[in-house]
Amino acid sequence: MKSIRNKIILFSILATLIPSIGLGVLSFQQNETMIKENLTRELRALTNYADRELELWIKEQIYTVRELSHSKILTDGISLLTSSSLKNVIARQKNLVENYFKSVSNRLDTVLELIAIDTNGQILASNVDLHEPKSFPENWTETTTVQGNVVIPPHWNERFATSTVSILVPILSVDDYILGALVVTFDLHSIHSSLKDPIKSPLGEVLLLDNEGRIMLSSDGRILPGNQENITLSFAIEDLEELQHNPKELDIPQGLETEKVIGLAYTSKNPPVTIIAHRSYDSIYAAWIQQRDLFIGLVGAALFITVIIAFQMGHAIVVPLQKLISATEDIVKGNFQVQLKTSQRNELGQLTHMFNQMADKLQQNLAEITTTSLAMQEKNKLLETLSVTDSLTGLFNRNKLNAIINDQLARFSRNNRPFAVLMIDIDHFKTLNDTLGHIAGDEIILSVAEKILHCIRSVDFAARYGGDEFVIILSETTADEAVKTAERIRSHVANIHYNSTDQLARVVTLSIGIIQSEAEDTSLTHLLSRVDSALYQAKHAGRNQTYCIRPKLLTVNG
Ligand code: GH3
Ligand code: MG
Repeated sequence: MKSIRNKIILFSILATLIPSIGLGVLSFQQNETMIKENLTRELRALTNYADRELELWIKEQIYTVRELSHSKILTDGISLLTSSSLKNVIARQKNLVENYFKSVSNRLDTVLELIAIDTNGQILASNVDLHEPKSFPENWTETTTVQGNVVIPPHWNERFATSTVSILVPILSVDDYILGALVVTFDLHSIHSSLKDPIKSPLGEVLLLDNEGRIMLSSDGRILPGNQENITLSFAIEDLEELQHNPKELDIPQGLETEKVIGLAYTSKNPPVTIIAHRSYDSIYAAWIQQRDLFIGLVGAALFITVIIAFQMGHAIVVPLQKLISATEDIVKGNFQVQLKTSQRNELGQLTHMFNQMADKLQQNLAEITTTSLAMQEKNKLLETLSVTDSLTGLFNRNKLNAIINDQLARFSRNNRPFAVLMIDIDHFKTLNDTLGHIAGDEIILSVAEKILHCIRSVDFAARYGGDEFVIILSETTADEAVKTAERIRSHVANIHYNSTDQLARVVTLSIGIIQSEAEDTSLTHLLSRVDSALYQAKHAGRNQTYCIRPKLLTVNG
């Protein structure tokens, strides 16, 4: 059944969820956009800072190389190395220059390699033993500046197992003639901690990638020199292109694991490096996730409370309604004695109160109807009795007598058991009436009726046929037995006496005609005419006697 309670609960759930989820989604989307915008700004600041630092650092290194290139040992050495053909002079000068190089590399941690080359790019001296021949572009003199420049851009140097950058500065003679050049390879690792400002820079770290997409440096020091296993991250160039415009999710090495971060790239042309600023995904969204979890918790709590309230509201509506339905069913079944309890002061309480009043009223009406109906039943019974009763004697009246006779005739035709009919008439009643008065006449009629009732059985019927005439039906009785009853009646009536001067009026006698039902008695009229003729015979024979028409035999009794 689709209960009201379920509908209320469903409505409350929807009414809570739709606005809260709608507002939640909207606000979280706004938050996310804000977070992304802030993040983009912060990561961009990081890349810019790192780019500036790198540029400054390189400038410093160029300056250092320039300073070194002005060394007298170097200029004199290179001058002799390039001009002299004497082997011992060359060997001594080379030794001098290389010793100078070694002392420089010992002094400066960041210097990995120092090489002196001639104008053709041929190596003249170096602080390290070069396993593989190294050559520089022959036309370097045309591409380089007097100030010096980056000749090998920053890259992951497998030979030194660190990221390096090589800077070239021309070595000039006293008359500014280019003798050769000093090429210094620096360890880039030293700047990893300067890639961001520990105080002012926003949260996040910086990665430095060479132009092949390999990680050279990391501001948090996760890429260490000599540990090539860390160089697992390499980016396709097209990915880097896209990463320059929008921050993207990336997986970068974190020990043996990878860390999920969001990064933004900046590709610098000079030197050709890519800077990726990134921040841990979890730290970016930690607050957002916390807020989301709090929101889900709050919505859940609100939903829980709403459902409980809705359930109770539904309960408060449905329970009284169910009681009303069940009470109405009782009333439909005819049980009006229903009273419902209510403590509610709302419309339902009012309805329950009205229902109780209605049930009371119905009960009252039912009692009135029952009383009226009983009274009517009694009256009907009385009317029925009156309609079949003679008012003076209380015996059956003529109408009822007709019905009884018809019934007896039908019974007789079915079972062939005869019944007897007695027709009784008071002798000289007119005289009695005239002498004693009409009221006394009535009393005599009543007394005769009483005597008749006294002499018959409960299965017999006595009726007043008219005036001073009575008809008695004796059920399943033969003529002989009927004669006995008639005689008994006559003898009882003989006891009725009245004081009167007229002799005739002092006794009440009866003439009685008797018949026994016969096959020829097919109708009421026929039967009555036969008994009437028996009575006539009794009268005719001198009154105060019975006359019985027996089947085939006629007996007169005086
Ligand atoms: P008979 O012996 O031949 O019967 O003579 P009778 O005088 O009795 O004549 P009948 O039976 O014909 O007379 C009946 C009289 O009974 C006629 C009438 O005045 C009287 N009567 C009829 N009904 C009533 C009644 O209700 N009360 C009284 N007091 N008299 C009645
Ligand atoms: Mg009479």
